[in-house]
Amino acid sequence: MSTVDTNRPNRPNRPDVLVIGGGIGGLSAALALTRTGLRVRVYERAAEFGEVGAGLQIAPNCTRILDDCGLLDEATSLGVRPEHMVMKDAVDAGELTRLDLTDLQHRYGFPYMVIHRSDLHGIFLRACGRAGVDLVTSSHCVAYENTGGGARVRFADGRTDEAEVVIAADGLHSVARTLLVHDDPVNSAYVAYRAAIPFDHVRGNGVHEKDVVVYVGPRCHFVQYPLRGGRMVNQVAVFESPKALAGAADWGTPDELDRAFDGMCAQIQKGLPLMWRDRWWRMFDRDPITNWVTGRIALLGDAAHPPLQYMAQGAVMAIEDGWVLAEHVGAQRAARSERTSGVDWEAALAAYEAVRPEHCRRVVTTARAWGELWHHDGIKRLRRNTLLRSRDPYDYTFTDWIYGPTALTPEQEPELYPTIPLGTENG
Ligand SMILES: Cc1cc2nc3c(=O)[nH]c(=O)nc-3n(C[C@H](O)[C@H](O)[C@H](O)COP(=O)(O)OP(=O)(O)OC[C@H]3O[C@@H](n4cnc5c(N)ncnc54)[C@H](O)[C@@H]3O)c2cc1C
Repeated sequence: MSTVDTNRPNRPNRPDVLVIGGGIGGLSAALALTRTGLRVRVYERAAEFGEVGAGLQIAPNCTRILDDCGLLDEATSLGVRPEHMVMKDAVDAGELTRLDLTDLQHRYGFPYMVIHRSDLHGIFLRACGRAGVDLVTSSHCVAYENTGGGARVRFADGRTDEAEVVIAADGLHSVARTLLVHDDPVNSAYVAYRAAIPFDHVRGNGVHEKDVVVYVGPRCHFVQYPLRGGRMVNQVAVFESPKALAGAADWGTPDELDRAFDGMCAQIQKGLPLMWRDRWWRMFDRDPITNWVTGRIALLGDAAHPPLQYMAQGAVMAIEDGWVLAEHVGAQRAARSERTSGVDWEAALAAYEAVRPEHCRRVVTTARAWGELWHHDGIKRLRRNTLLRSRDPYDYTFTDWIYGPTALTPEQEPELYPTIPLGTENG
């Protein structure tokens, strides 16, 4: 947890922008908007700003933005730049394919990095503090409404606040999203267990010290990568819960964890006892929506596009969202007057909504497809393995559309890759 003072009694002048939610999406958006000269206030429901969880992979489309914000050196000092991303079969531990992350950095100009979530969150929190973002905790937002020329929020304790624009970065269960669509999170029936532990605990277990390794298996997968300069290792164990499929309420419990990985390779068996067993993350996404803005209220991050995590792009997309919005704000801003910030919000929000939902739709749907690909069994598993083994590790068809520069306009959005030739009607 951070030491930034979030309980100053005197709040500064009326802000131009309110951001609801102080996760990675909310804080990075607040920072990006503040850098354009706006006054931004962030409201977080929890009593402290912080992130629960373990590691995060951040691809070049994110490290490019960190660099633009002057935060890449700090992230590099806290994270790890792995050498390879290796995919193995979870059953026999045979290598299927790999990415050379040094070559990848040359191709995209920025590194692939892994970092502890709380370190990345802390980087944004400190940067917000330095930039003068007003950071307010213990504020549970329960309602949003447009006003003439702005928007207002109401908190559970009766307080209200308003500004020219409200950015709702309130996560998977976003309250603001209900202004745009009445949908429910989609339950994948998969659950993730995590562990971030000292590397010494896994030395001798055949863990790669400098690589991200993903073991893909029938209805399960297992991820390992180094954290914090290699002093720690991050492990993620993901599996389909039979109890979830049966409709039980208490699904994903630890008794299901070991059974799900029965028959998987020795490297995974050595990693499983080290997983945290007192908490787990049920995996939900939502069907993509193309409308993220209503009046002066805009969705951002998981509130707009919660993905399954198979592309490792959820936090990355959230960071891109705020950066894109800020780029348009910067371009569409006249001089501040006494009454307004000078931003043409209609234009900035329209430009944001013109480009981000389609990109995120592609990521969310591709993540679902990756999940299917990773979790195949039987003949489909063998066919997948053959295809992946024959892949040229220096073929970037599957990453160019995502790791290149973040599009600011629909015209800049690259082509999506061709369909994976895996499924057949008989398969
Ligand atoms: C197992 C797993 C692994 C993942 N790995 C990766 C990865 O490698 N790379 C990657 O990019 N992404 C990854 N993700 C996805 C990533 O964690 C999320 O997409 C990202 O954290 C979303 O950030 P956010 O700020 O939009 O939402 P959140 O992190 O959910 O933050 C929302 C914030 O809003 C606050 N809030 C909620 N409601 C209210 C309210 N009513 N009022 C006020 N505040 C409120 C919450 O307390 C929270 O602080 C992974 C996810 C999982 C589950």
